[in-house]
Parts: sequence; C-alpha cells; structure tokens
Amino acid sequence: MTGIQWSMNGLECPQCGAVRIVKNGHAHTGKQRYLCCACGHQFTLRPVWHRISAETIALVDRLLTERISHRGICRVTGVSRSWFRLHLKGLSRSVSHDLNTPASSTKKA
Ligand SMILES: [Zn+2]
Repeated sequence: MTGIQWSMNGLECPQCGAVRIVKNGHAHTGKQRYLCCACGHQFTLRPVWHRISAETIALVDRLLTERISHRGICRVTGVSRSWFRLHLKGLSRSVSHDLNTPASSTKKA
C-alpha cells in the first residue's frame, strides 16, 4: 500500500498532462477535486457547462427575467457560476436588452 494511488482513473492533468493526480477534497458544488502533483494545478473532472440541458438553459433564461439574483438562479438550476457568466456573455451578444449587472465584482474562481 502506498497510501496514494497514482493515476487512479487514467486521469491526466489538463494543464501539463501528468498522471500523478491525487484527490483534493471537494469543490463547493460537491464535485470531486483533483490536484496535479507535477505542476500543482487543481481541477475538477469535467466542466459542468458541457452537461447543461436545453431545458435548464430555458429555465435560466426565464429566471433571468424574474429579477432573481444570479447566485439564486445558479442554486436553483444547478448550473455553475462560471457557466452562468459565459451564458450571460452570450446573451448580451445576441440580445439587445440591458443585462449588465451592477457591481458584479465577484471574482472568486
Ligand atoms: Zn499538472
């Protein structure tokens, strides 16, 4: 027993490609986090925004018109805030409505 399992699921560091990956607690979303022992990069297995369904997106869009806080929308729909930000950017490009959020200086990763 080594105590540490290298490359337990064939994981690779998205940053440097190393396979020396260890579990590193959980993200606030409850997802398993991993730590690369080679470069110290921390990551979760797959980004949430690849799995957002069209239904969820429609729901997010509807909630956006209800003046609910962005955090609230993320909590209710289960989307990540990073995905949400990307989604907002896409919206502001395609819609001429004023979607600018005042003082949204939350830069927590
Ligand atoms: Zn790495």
